Amino acid sequence: MATVSFWGGVGITGSSKVLIEDHGWRILLDLGLDRPHTQFYHHPVRPREGNELHDRLKVGDAPWIPRLFRNTAVMGTGLEGGSDGKTAVFITHSHVDHIGLVGWVDPSVPIFAAPETVKIRHALTASGRAHQTDPTFELIFAEKVMLEGQEPQIITMNEQDSLQFGPFNVTRYRIDHDVPGASGYIVETDQGRVAYTGDIRLHGRHPEWVRAFAEAAAGSEVLVIEGTTLGTKSRETEHPATEMQLDQTFATVLTRTQGLILMTLRPRNIERIESFVEIAKTFGRQILWSKEFATFLSAYGLHVETIDFGMRQIHDIQSRPAGYIVQMGSKEIPWIMDLPLGPTSVFIHADGDPRLSSPAGRSLQAWLQRYHVGLRTLGTTGHASPDAIHRIVDWIKPQVVYPLHTHAPELLQPNPPTIRVIPDYGRRYPLG
Ligand SMILES: [Zn+2]
Ligand SMILES: [Zn+2]
Repeated sequence: MATVSFWGGVGITGSSKVLIEDHGWRILLDLGLDRPHTQFYHHPVRPREGNELHDRLKVGDAPWIPRLFRNTAVMGTGLEGGSDGKTAVFITHSHVDHIGLVGWVDPSVPIFAAPETVKIRHALTASGRAHQTDPTFELIFAEKVMLEGQEPQIITMNEQDSLQFGPFNVTRYRIDHDVPGASGYIVETDQGRVAYTGDIRLHGRHPEWVRAFAEAAAGSEVLVIEGTTLGTKSRETEHPATEMQLDQTFATVLTRTQGLILMTLRPRNIERIESFVEIAKTFGRQILWSKEFATFLSAYGLHVETIDFGMRQIHDIQSRPAGYIVQMGSKEIPWIMDLPLGPTSVFIHADGDPRLSSPAGRSLQAWLQRYHVGLRTLGTTGHASPDAIHRIVDWIKPQVVYPLHTHAPELLQPNPPTIRVIPDYGRRYPLG
């Protein structure tokens, strides 16, 4: 009898882990860091270097799944390590709550993911190595943690590739989220199909990919869907702007700004980065990227210009402020002192570091106020609105839907005859 169980993302936003089992064979969908892992390891308290998985398992901050992790990584925890030869891992995307523990997986357990996910993982490794001695690197990417363990051998799976693993057939579909390579999977078992969305949205650049996934998944016995925005009451999550609207707003801000522009955004939202680079070009502006961003983006394969804040570069910016946009993270903020800024400038906050509500965000706003620079926020979420979540469920019309990756699973209320089940952590639910 095939079963499905949940080892993360239960009642919390993030860290989804879906285990499908049949006759001793296992498919694990996603293997990220647990949230809130901060309960025991709030920055700067960290698990001990080299023993991170051990230190997380000991306090219940990692999934207790036997025969998955390397023996050396779980030694002393009581959890059985090594491989049973009947387990495979599939990753939906490169956010740390979905991929963060793969460095601990036993090398004989195969791990599959989209080519873009593998590329981002490698780019992070490259930039991680370049900035290993820099303690602020972790804050800027907030995810140095994803480089825990050893460099994993991830097997790339193209869009709509299927593979047979024991009694399972697994197919990868591209879906839309705020990172390239985002995937959904459909796992066929003898007792029916399990469709898993990973993180998903309808207001990104590729809603048609979500539609195609929903069509492929239509009538599945089980749907596991993320529910991040359920229970959040804000305009940004209930009526999120589309990425295309952000492009337009970005262009409008560029039209209206005569002076130097400062900007922050997220390194892994690569499609937005590419789009902003192109839009900036049409306005005769070049984006200068901080060292960390530039290393990461170059390792991913983009050609970008780095800001080094050298005398010559600062002189160039001072003589032609309308020719540049300077990307700034928390660490670069004091350079505001040396840049030609004032009321004709603007700081564009497009979802990056620092978050405006954080202490560093308050620092940023104090700097902007002191130098009379306006702030323009333009961002959107990587997660489907509550309405869009319900629409996707309605398109698929599964027999059973499990809301995951949400604080408020009870707010998913599908139309009949679909049944919603709020999962318990680690409990096995039979299929069919
Ligand atoms: Zn997530
Ligand atoms: Zn995500």
